[in-house]
Amino acid sequence: MKLLLLAATHGVEEQSSYFVNQFVKNYRQDLLHLVKVDSLFKFSLSEMLGVKASSYEENCTQLKLDGKFTSKAKSNLIVSLPVLNPHGLAHQTRSNANDVDLNRNLPSKNWASAKFRIDGQKNPYYPGEFPSSEIETQILCKIIEAFKIELIMSFHTNHFIQNENPPQINYDGTIKHKKWAEQLAAKTKLPFTEDIGYPTPGSLGSYSKEKNIDCITVEFDDKLDGETISKNYQESFLTSIQELFPGKA
Ligand SMILES: [Zn+2]
Repeated sequence: MKLLLLAATHGVEEQSSYFVNQFVKNYRQDLLHLVKVDSLFKFSLSEMLGVKASSYEENCTQLKLDGKFTSKAKSNLIVSLPVLNPHGLAHQTRSNANDVDLNRNLPSKNWASAKFRIDGQKNPYYPGEFPSSEIETQILCKIIEAFKIELIMSFHTNHFIQNENPPQINYDGTIKHKKWAEQLAAKTKLPFTEDIGYPTPGSLGSYSKEKNIDCITVEFDDKLDGETISKNYQESFLTSIQELFPGKA
């Protein structure tokens, strides 16, 4: 199993970064024990983007824009990226420095251009000039390819923008991990959904599906702080993630 844990695609959803950082920190030994030593990666894009690393990027390896992405780990690994959008997190914006919604910039077939401004307003879901126009998106795709990621868990909070988006576990997948995702939803008592309720062109879910990779988007309650979210959910996530790996305790 090759798993990717991803957070702060949207800079205003800080609690997602808190959760992933704490999760990897608290369960490092458990996870390494399960997935073999040297197979737990923790990456940051902050330096590459000229942003001071946040407190959620403890012990992260800084990625280089022109760096080679290779992995010696053959079968079981976890890659974590607690902050996909360092500029957005630092400036408390949903989008990145170019006002692009990173969850609409993936090079999926359904990527759709949208005007930056609608009725004189900024488009909060602005997908960028073209698919994969943003460094963050390019790096994310490189990681997915280099590590041959099979399952993505993308952590968000339901920060209200334009569409209602209740807390949930949303499954975009190939059926492989559907049952597992349903069980995770049952454990966490978060509703299981397969349709988020509105179109999401250029989203990570759309991109993954085309690549035959399962993607689970976790929407935590935005009203809760990171500490409460961690306390409420980290144990359920650990036991579920353990089930994904053959060497489970
Ligand atoms: Zn989000």
